[in-house]
Amino acid sequence: MSDEPTADDATVIVVGGGPAGLSAALFTAKNGLETTVFDTDETWMHKAHLFNYLGIGSVGGSEFMATARQQVDDFGVDRRQGEEVTAVSEAGDGFAVETEDGEYEADFVVLATGANRELAEDLGVAFTEEGVVDVGVDTETSVEGVYATGAMVRPEEWQAAISVGDGAAAGLNILTTVRGEHYHDFDVPADAERVFGDLVAE
Ligand SMILES: Cc1cc2nc3c(=O)[nH]c(=O)nc-3n(C[C@H](O)[C@H](O)[C@H](O)COP(=O)(O)OP(=O)(O)OC[C@H]3O[C@@H](n4cnc5c(N)ncnc54)[C@H](O)[C@@H]3O)c2cc1C
Repeated sequence: MSDEPTADDATVIVVGGGPAGLSAALFTAKNGLETTVFDTDETWMHKAHLFNYLGIGSVGGSEFMATARQQVDDFGVDRRQGEEVTAVSEAGDGFAVETEDGEYEADFVVLATGANRELAEDLGVAFTEEGVVDVGVDTETSVEGVYATGAMVRPEEWQAAISVGDGAAAGLNILTTVRGEHYHDFDVPADAERVFGDLVAE
């Protein structure tokens, strides 16, 4: 029998709750994986005002984050605001995540700590010659089960939309691994009541 976690019991820890981390968490939690986000709230979004996020004309960065946080909370993400992750290491078939308040286990880890790459370095994932974490379009690092997203995987091209895309890629690839087949998170209008219930506008 395979030791791969199944859809029922796989757990995901996301380190960093900016656009990249919350996007990854949205996809995994929405599709049934137990998902925890640790975030110290130093996202650059608090300094930004977006005019270049497709589909949104103008929004303050902090306002964008408030909506994103509400969205992941609605889908059941355990968001540990203010709890800093101090170490991530391989442990058994998964990973041990240490914070200032305790130690947690997960089958998958998504690193989304902005341009701070210290946890990735400590874990020993491969870096490129340019000094960023080496990932492909699926955002998985050289350590199986560890994903790296957002500013840490690019030398300079840092935009909210790119981070959100990276997080979505990480979340979907985790779901593909867990389910054992390519995963699509496609909803249609008829799903609105089921997915969003009372929050859907009449
Ligand atoms: C002045 C300014 C203006 C900008 N304007 C725009 C703009 O107009 N349009 C645009 O698209 N982008 C803009 N950006 C860039 C945008 O803010 C970033 O691209 C985006 O925030 C990157 O998202 P991220 O999730 O990768 O990282 P971040 O937003 O940096 O989020 C990383 C999160 O991880 C947390 N974290 C880090 N280490 C740990 C740890 N060990 N444990 C727990 N949590 C941790 C941090 O506190 C932070 O909340 C601007 C940036 C700045 C500085």
